Amino acid sequence: MSEANNYISPTEIFTVARAKQTENIFFRKELKKFSSIIIDEQVKKLMLHFYNEIDCTKCANCCKHLEPGIEDNEIEKLAEKKGMDVIEFRRTFVDFDGEALFLKTKPCMFLSDNKCSIYDSRPQACALYPHLEQEHFKYKKNVWSNYSICPIVFEVIEALKLELKFEYKNS
Ligand code: SF4
Ligand code: SF4
Repeated sequence: MSEANNYISPTEIFTVARAKQTENIFFRKELKKFSSIIIDEQVKKLMLHFYNEIDCTKCANCCKHLEPGIEDNEIEKLAEKKGMDVIEFRRTFVDFDGEALFLKTKPCMFLSDNKCSIYDSRPQACALYPHLEQEHFKYKKNVWSNYSICPIVFEVIEALKLELKFEYKNS
């Protein structure tokens, strides 16, 4: 993946993304000139391209560095997969941030050999990650925050800059 195609590597992404913070603030302002329909279409096209290009099993940054959101009705299945009683599982591994429930293990307890060991039963939030298919991409803070973690999001946004001929002059 990254090495052969010169895409951002899962380890370099944190530093490079930090260096591009200001540039991205200007790019997000630039996106306001375009309609959401146009941007969402371009993002979708780029997303499909990079899904094919980037191998998640060589990355797993999302499973290593984020705490996945879960639904109440997913806890029983997760406890079963962990071989634990539901109440004990909830007390040990589930937390609430004021808005949503999430699994409080980093890296995720279900990550094994860079792969999800419960792939077919993984939480919906994991299945939908990195959420690039949401409408009104340009306004979605949760997607933009994934720029510094997910190589797919990083490459989609960098490719979008090229397609829109965005130029950032750091003076
Ligand atoms: S449940 Fe699976 S996909 Fe979700 S964070 Fe854990 S290892 Fe990753
Ligand atoms: S979705 Fe993004 S962060 Fe997660 S494994 Fe794939 S490339 Fe890495």
